[in-house]
Amino acid sequence: MRRADEDLLAELKARLLEIGDLGGTAAVLSWDQSTYMPKGGAGARGRQSALMSRLMHERRTDPGLGRLIEQLTPYALSLPPDSDDAALISVTGRDFAKAVRVPTSFVERLSAHSSASYDAWTRARQDNDFAGMRPLLERTLDLSCEYAEFFAPYQHVIDPFIDDMDEGMTCASVRSLLAELRAELVPMVRAICDRPATDDSCLHGAFAEGPQLDFGLSVATAYGYDLDRGRLDRTFHPFCTRFSAGDIRITTRVYPDDVTQALFSTLHEAGHGIYEQGVGAALDGTPLGSGTSAGVHESQSRLWENVVGRSLGLWQHYYPKLRATFPDQLGNVPLEAFHRAINKVERSLIRTEADEVTYNLHIILRFDLELEMLERRLAVKDLPEAWRARYQSDLGISPPDDRDGCLQDVHWFSGCIGGAFHSYTIGNVLSAQFYAAALRAHPEIPAEIAAGRFGTLKAWLEQNLYRHGRKFKADEIVRRATGEAMTIRPYMDYLGGKYGALYGLPQPQSPAAQ
Ligand code: ZN
Repeated sequence: MRRADEDLLAELKARLLEIGDLGGTAAVLSWDQSTYMPKGGAGARGRQSALMSRLMHERRTDPGLGRLIEQLTPYALSLPPDSDDAALISVTGRDFAKAVRVPTSFVERLSAHSSASYDAWTRARQDNDFAGMRPLLERTLDLSCEYAEFFAPYQHVIDPFIDDMDEGMTCASVRSLLAELRAELVPMVRAICDRPATDDSCLHGAFAEGPQLDFGLSVATAYGYDLDRGRLDRTFHPFCTRFSAGDIRITTRVYPDDVTQALFSTLHEAGHGIYEQGVGAALDGTPLGSGTSAGVHESQSRLWENVVGRSLGLWQHYYPKLRATFPDQLGNVPLEAFHRAINKVERSLIRTEADEVTYNLHIILRFDLELEMLERRLAVKDLPEAWRARYQSDLGISPPDDRDGCLQDVHWFSGCIGGAFHSYTIGNVLSAQFYAAALRAHPEIPAEIAAGRFGTLKAWLEQNLYRHGRKFKADEIVRRATGEAMTIRPYMDYLGGKYGALYGLPQPQSPAAQ
């Protein structure tokens, strides 16, 4: 490394650290807004967040940063392609090229609008007031289309949004993934729903909130979520946020009449948190110091929430503890009945409460509605009706009001319309693919989980996925970790095996058994 390159790289890292610190500061403001901020703070907080967005964007698009990247490119090309510095320069270059397409004034407008929209949505959802939300959502759609235009020419208007979430994917690739899944899921849902319904009444009753929170956190910390570098707070729409490598927070919500909400929200967000806490310390303060894509991130929340968290093995270890926490409610409920209840499949209205089998149907219809709105084939005023029609045709039920209809998700009301949902399904698919790869390397993992030990699984994930942060794009990290490109096969095998057994469905013959 030449002296000049060394100085340039140090300058690049200093600039990136400042941008990262602005991002961490903005994240604190947003975490506070979603947890403890009193109502009265909304106006000023919107202004403050917009200011942070502007400051970050100005630094991200500073021509001086562009010159540095250009000067460092020959040096990056001289390095082994998978070295940290080569990845840093190339990822920073890609981020810069995207950021300079978007004017700072737009970023500020969008941020201010998003804060106002989120604030209004928290009330509108409670009051079932779509009419009140409509002008704001129309503005969101206009801003979303304006954003896409900065990336013209594109193949499809949703492509820029998909690329922001899952770099390398497009409308075409997401569509084909969703179509492939839909073809297998629809008959599976039908077959399950033809079976007698599962009784999950044991999950409903009076469950004290404090013990619910404590129990969820005890499992999360056993997974490996580190409370010296994190904490758990309550919110309306749970999330995980990173301020720095040493402070990665999760949030959850508690329902006093449903023992599963706090538990599985906590395990889900802990999955995100464990991923972030596992990113290599050397990458902190750089654009590499975070998870690689929304879909891969979601694969980790789903893996710890569902693949591990809803497995019979985990509950062989934890059910006696949960029973001891709630002896009056669960004392007479056998383990198998509890396990069936937390894996109940039913056609339902609320995405975040949907089971693993129907979940992706909720995503597919949202993705299609996003496309229709962005293509201007569906007007915002017609969204509630289109929503009801799709639930009726895809899930055979229809929401009685907009609160449980098109107002239910935070996404369109706190950011752009576009790219907001497909990552959840990518996450589901990849959760099973990563888990299957970990199992090939360490067949002892299920036995360890049944003994309440998660170290082997976490270490495999850390080694193959977490520590790399954003160093590799999603498709490359999937290939490196699992030996193949993203495929729905392990996921469908997982669902078929688990729910086939739970619902007594005929098991497909595997080629090896024939
Ligand atoms: Zn998530």
